[in-house]
Amino acid sequence: MKIRNRLNPSNPCFSFEFFPPKTDEGVANLLRTLEDLAPLEPGFVSVTYGAGGSTRDRTLELVTRIKQQTGIEAMAHLTCVGHTREELRDVLQRLADAKLDNVLVLRGDPPQGQTTFQPTEGGFSYASELVQFIREEDFNFCLGGACYPEGHVETASRDDDLRHLKAKVDAGLDFVVTQLFFDNAFYFDFVERARRAGINIPIVPGIMPITNYEQVQRFTRMCGATVPMRLGLQLERVKDQPEALVQLGVAHATVQCMELLSRGVPGIHFYTLNKSPATRMIVSALRAHL
Ligand code: FAD
Repeated sequence: MKIRNRLNPSNPCFSFEFFPPKTDEGVANLLRTLEDLAPLEPGFVSVTYGAGGSTRDRTLELVTRIKQQTGIEAMAHLTCVGHTREELRDVLQRLADAKLDNVLVLRGDPPQGQTTFQPTEGGFSYASELVQFIREEDFNFCLGGACYPEGHVETASRDDDLRHLKAKVDAGLDFVVTQLFFDNAFYFDFVERARRAGINIPIVPGIMPITNYEQVQRFTRMCGATVPMRLGLQLERVKDQPEALVQLGVAHATVQCMELLSRGVPGIHFYTLNKSPATRMIVSALRAHL
């Protein structure tokens, strides 16, 4: 199933993102988690692509097993980091051979210890180049990409970032998923600017339920997402009370999602961080209101 056919404001789909666990036991746990999530009827799930080594094979293994064992559509993320174009072609061929229909195409972050992204010799500098390559090679994938309502951390200006996004979309993307945000105003403003710039594909909001204080600090530092002042104060107040913190995180994300749905988003993508209970609570509440 091509994800672009599931993204529909009159019947929005929920999707869940996971990262590949490091151990076989972790993989088995994740597959069990997915069986628990299946009754929520996710439109698709996606599995991130690591910085290198064996976790990359696990991404491929997991998406294949998820699709075969649970019947849920599974999308692999793929980055340019450390890959030549021949290696990328091989990965894409393996995904095609496993009958996977969707790929989230990314440039990737600089590997740990490096501050700027260095393209691999014989590889690509930007996600748009990989998108173009996949289209030229005649793979029949539905392609997603990343976008940034608050601007990508490396960009000099939001206008530049939007121009680069337009080039990436024109290279052959079918939909984009946003970086996480905690204030819907960023999303609505971004969609408006994207439409004005001629970007007409679905823009799926990415939501991360907060379940851990230190983690949210780390993530927002890394990706530049703003924590609204009121939410920041509330988090500060419950940072040492794990249950209250999860309740606050779930409540905030639920309110965000309700507003997004009421304003016609084509779907909502949840950054689960492999912790499904929070996502399950939110999606159950939303389903009751749909
Ligand atoms: P690009 O679209 O290539 O953009 C990167 C930067 O280059 C931007 O600042 C852009 O404005 C600029 N740029 C683009 N084109 C040009 C140009 N022609 N000239 C000059 N500047 C240009 N990371 C992982 O490692 N694994 C994952 O699985 C993963 N999954 C993600 C999923 C989502 C939904 C999101 C939002 C992010 C994900 N990331 C993942 C993080 C992502 O790899 C980083 O944000 C990375 O820094 C940028 O990737 P990109 O594909 O957006 O890059």
